[in-house]
Amino acid sequence: MIDDLVAVCDVCLGEVADGDGVLEVDTAKADRALRAWRAKAGVDPHALFHLTPGARTVKWAVRHHACGTGPVFAYTIAVERVRSWTGLLEWNVHLADKPFLAATDWFDLLDRALHPRRAAVSGILPRIPRDLGGGPVGDT
Ligand SMILES: [Zn+2]
Repeated sequence: MIDDLVAVCDVCLGEVADGDGVLEVDTAKADRALRAWRAKAGVDPHALFHLTPGARTVKWAVRHHACGTGPVFAYTIAVERVRSWTGLLEWNVHLADKPFLAATDWFDLLDRALHPRRAAVSGILPRIPRDLGGGPVGDT
């Protein structure tokens, strides 16, 4: 079976084989960013970190094990666990209740996977690019 998604290392731009790398984010950095943002934004239920001008999201990164070390406090997903669209959707549901998620670029990562024309050369990308003509959300 051919995988839907391919993991491309943000460090060396090489494809990451099963068992050779991770998708990870620095959760301590995300927690700090979220605390700082909440101190400014208050408890407005409509305030969204990733939509706030000036808020800098903490980046998810794809990395070979051999291409450096991860953050001390990292949330790590083995690349072989994000090889399909359904797998990625499952991770989205799983991560939804994690407090740090709001301060990360998770939704940008999903968007780059869906629309690789948005300057995506690394990260989680489709093995076979979709029609790049765009269109309404959900129209694939
Ligand atoms: Zn690498």
